[in-house]
Amino acid sequence: MRILEIFDQLQRKFIDRVSEQLTRGEEVREQFLHQVTRYYNLLQQSIVTGDSQWLQPILIEWVQVRTQSEVEKQEASLTVLLNQIFMITHQLASEELNPKEALNFMGKLLPIHTDALEYVTQQETQAYIEHISQELENVRLQLEKLDRSKSDFISVAAHELKTPLTLIEGYMDMLRESVPNTTQTALFLDGVGNGTRRLQEIVGDMIDVSLIDNNLLDLNFRPIWFNRLLAMAQNEFNDAVKERNQILKIHPFPGVDAMTYGDAERIYQVLRNLFSNAIKYTPDGGEITIDGRSLPGFIEITVTDTGIGIASDDQERIFEKFGHLGDVSLHSSGKTKFKGGGPGLGLSIAKGIVEAHGGTIWVESKECDEITCPGSTFHILFPIHESPPDEKAKKLFQYTETREE
Ligand code: ADP
Repeated sequence: MRILEIFDQLQRKFIDRVSEQLTRGEEVREQFLHQVTRYYNLLQQSIVTGDSQWLQPILIEWVQVRTQSEVEKQEASLTVLLNQIFMITHQLASEELNPKEALNFMGKLLPIHTDALEYVTQQETQAYIEHISQELENVRLQLEKLDRSKSDFISVAAHELKTPLTLIEGYMDMLRESVPNTTQTALFLDGVGNGTRRLQEIVGDMIDVSLIDNNLLDLNFRPIWFNRLLAMAQNEFNDAVKERNQILKIHPFPGVDAMTYGDAERIYQVLRNLFSNAIKYTPDGGEITIDGRSLPGFIEITVTDTGIGIASDDQERIFEKFGHLGDVSLHSSGKTKFKGGGPGLGLSIAKGIVEAHGGTIWVESKECDEITCPGSTFHILFPIHESPPDEKAKKLFQYTETREE
């Protein structure tokens, strides 16, 4: 019997059996009937031409009608359905055809069925990958939104706090001048003054973070010398280092005295943060060493301490805003007291400043252990600019250059 005749002979029973065994309920069966008939006709076309591609349009439609939750849970794979249809066809062929015809028929059906399975698996995998990518994109957008709200909050809070702080400072100055200068009033006023200053620093940090987040950090490129900035920072922390019985050493390294262009105030802010962290997270009696090296086009500065160290899992997180580690409630507001953490903005600002200069910052540490104190080394890599890198500075310093010539 020719293949077309076999298809004609089996058609009715195939459609009835497939829709009876694979569907529940009259309504569903009605819709499914149309699909099964179409599938059967395309299967016939594939077998007659020996080309399994005839089945692809209906298979892709079936892949696409899977619900979102079926794709999510990788449920209701079409391969199961195709295998069931194949089994029913096999049953029918053995019941309705003589063994030779059945064997011949199944022999033609098998490669088409295998191709269909492969195609469906491919399409389902692709649909799953698309679904996962979409999910990832949604998560990314959510995170972006969250980060934006965090940044908006910081910016609003900082600006709202700035005005009352200026008021407090003004009234404090007036009070200082109008009340009798006794030891007790001086003590109280100093207390309020220190608190206000600390609050102003925090508000300043919050404003810096929001400037960095919104790409609004404006750098004033001027000639700078790292040895001078480092010496200034060393000087500033001299008392704190003494108080903590620590040693702060600066190793003069080749290239540290070279002139480059950078924003001196901002770079100093980075150094202050690294120095103050090194002092804070190193126990009394510890050592802080500043070193570095000159690389082609760059200068690298390292700040090494003999402190508590940082676990490798946290070494990226500390550069994010509010990336402080440990229990927030235990944080004091000291700038140099042992583990006297702050709001966790310093390193994220440092990263923003270094990156705005075209540099990078990272940390190396074996682990965090308050007993063995493995220490940490912070690295900053700054590009060396032999001429001002921006137009504003170029205009300003061209004058100086011609004058010097
Ligand atoms: P904070 O205001 O908390 O000091 P930073 O952004 O300066 O904020 O630092 C983030 C966190 O990184 C700190 O809370 C601390 O846990 C960790 N850290 C920074 N520097 C060091 C260091 N030298 N040794 C150990 N941990 C450090």
